[in-house]
Formats: sequence, C-alpha cells, structure tokens
Amino acid sequence: MSDCWDVGIIGGGPAGYTAALYAARAGFSVLLLEKLAPGGQMATTDVIDNYPGFPEGVSGFDLADHMKRSAERFGAVTRLAEVQSVGLAGPVKEIVTRKETLRARAVVLATGASPRELGLPGERELRGRGVSYCATCDGMFFRGQSVCVVGGGNTAVADALYLSRLCARVTLIHRRDRLRASAVYAHALESAPNLEILWNTTVTSLEHDDVLTGVGLTRTDTGATRTLPCAALFVAVGHVPESGLFRGQVDLDPAGYVLADETTRTRLPGVFAVGDLRQKPLRQVVTAAADGAVAAHFIEEYLGA
Ligand code: NAP
Repeated sequence: MSDCWDVGIIGGGPAGYTAALYAARAGFSVLLLEKLAPGGQMATTDVIDNYPGFPEGVSGFDLADHMKRSAERFGAVTRLAEVQSVGLAGPVKEIVTRKETLRARAVVLATGASPRELGLPGERELRGRGVSYCATCDGMFFRGQSVCVVGGGNTAVADALYLSRLCARVTLIHRRDRLRASAVYAHALESAPNLEILWNTTVTSLEHDDVLTGVGLTRTDTGATRTLPCAALFVAVGHVPESGLFRGQVDLDPAGYVLADETTRTRLPGVFAVGDLRQKPLRQVVTAAADGAVAAHFIEEYLGA
C-alpha cells in the first residue's frame, strides 16, 4: 500500500472504473473508493443495449463487474469505504473515510448522481414498503401485482418495460403529454399489453397502511383527482448529483453538477470530474466511460509535469 497514491478515485461507476483502468495501465498507483458496490447506477440497470460490444445487450451488474476486473487486472485497488470529507487544494489531496485519511497526488471525482425523490408526505417512511427507486432491485417483490412508475425519461420507460415482464399491470404516470425518453422505446411501449400510460398526471399523495396501497393522482389539465390502487410505486423522476462532499472546493452549476470542461479538469489543479457528476449534455454509460479515459490522459499530463 502506498502512503501517497498517484491517483485517488471517488466512486466506482463506469466513469471511475474507466479512469482507474487507464491510469493503472499507464503505470500509476490507483486507489478507487466505493461506498456500496461497484457499478453505481449502471449496476441497477436490467439490460444495457447501448454500450458497444455486446450484441445481445449486457446486464448492468455484469458490465460493472467486467469494468472492475479490467481495472484491477492492471493493479488498481478497490476499497469499500464511504468518503466523509475531502481536501482538494494543494499538491497532495486528502480523502477522509471513517477509518483513515488517504492521500493522493491527483483525484478523480466520480460519485455520479442518485435518484430524485418526489417529496411527498410519507415517501421516506414507505421506502422499502412499496416505494422504490430501483425497478431492477425491487421489481421481483411485486411479481404478478399491479405497480406504478412515475416519470417520463429513459429511466422511467426502461423501468416500466422491465416491470411489464414481471408484474400483472404497470401504469406509467407522466406529468406531460409527451415522453422525454428516447424514441427507441416507442415500439416496445406500444407492444406491452399490460402497460398503460397516464398522461398529464402527477402523483400527489401516497395511500398506505403499513405498506403502500395506492397513489393519489391529479390531472394537470383539469385538476381532477382520483386514487389508483397499486402495490408499488417506482419513482424515476431524474437524478441529483452527488456533489455535496465537494461543495465549496470545486465549482458547481445551480443544479449541483461539477463544472469541468471536456478535459474533465476542474478549477483545482489535479482534480478531475467525470461521468454523471459533471455538467454535460449526454449522460450515458459510454459517455461516463469516455470521461474516465479523458481524465486519465490529463492526469498523466498533470503528474508528468
Ligand atoms: P430525466 O431524463 O431527467 O427524466 C426525468 C423525468 O422525470 C422527466 O420526464 C421529468 O418530466 C420527470 N420529472 C422530474 N421531476 C418530476 C416530478 N417532481 N414529478 C413528476 N415527474 C418529474 O432522468 P432519467 O430518466 O433518470 O435519466 C437520467 C439520465 O440517464 C438521462 O441523461 C438519460 O438519458 C440517462 N439514461 C439513459 C438510459 C438509456 O439510454 N437507455 C437509461 C436510463 C437513463 P419532464 O419530462 O416533464 O421534465
């Protein structure tokens, strides 16, 4: 173990592990810190069809494992630990976990984003009791039952399609009259016989006893309200960046995404931001992985300078 690592990476999604692979392969000592399990949001995705090289698609969990092992093959070290604070100024950066303070000459911020909550009364208490933010993690608990998904982006649509293969009935609830999700899903949505879309509708309350029993709905155009019984509500209304640890050290945009240009360099020398954490126009596994490779290139330039 090094006293001071060449590269410290915070976050083990596709961006973090690609930075680890490239930096380790370039000969640097690399430590990657991950809070829970490798893969980030990618690991909670059932099938990924748009990452090149997998003609049959690939499970997010498997792709995460491949990426981790690719980086470790070149000597990158993974440590499971939650980072509590960071000191990013100066030539030696500090990363503090509950057990230790780690040092690195360059740091890659790769903490990604986490699912946004609806903010409804009871939502937090019902988490794990009918309210879920991960269809692939929790869908199987509701096999054969009626469930709802709220949201209109790629996550909501992919979740609704996944659940339509497990559940008796899936209702996708979207606040507008048009999906934000990519058009590639249109045919699959039309062909799922047990999937219905409620347009111009928001979820305004959660009905429950000990567990969720239904959702209260309100039409955005007429204001009409009603209750829809369901065993689960899968919330897929976007993500919020996991940038709290870095606030005040690197620049953030108003939504909390880290400002770094296409070189992934932040305003602090030796600090790079990659993947969904970074302000960028397209958040995909492939763009996260690309950020990791770009970061390693500029780390090489920075450490070699
Ligand atoms: P997203 O694209 O930001 O979509 C969020 C959806 O939630 C939007 O339809 C939005 O409605 C709705 N929404 C936001 N706040 C809401 C609220 N309070 N109540 C009700 N609805 C609300 O987020 P995402 O689907 O999580 O995707 C995040 C990123 O990951 C995107 O870049 C996406 O392309 C990418 N992704 C890609 C894939 C894929 O390529 N297969 C799969 C998953 C995710 P409006 O439309 O009205 O704004």
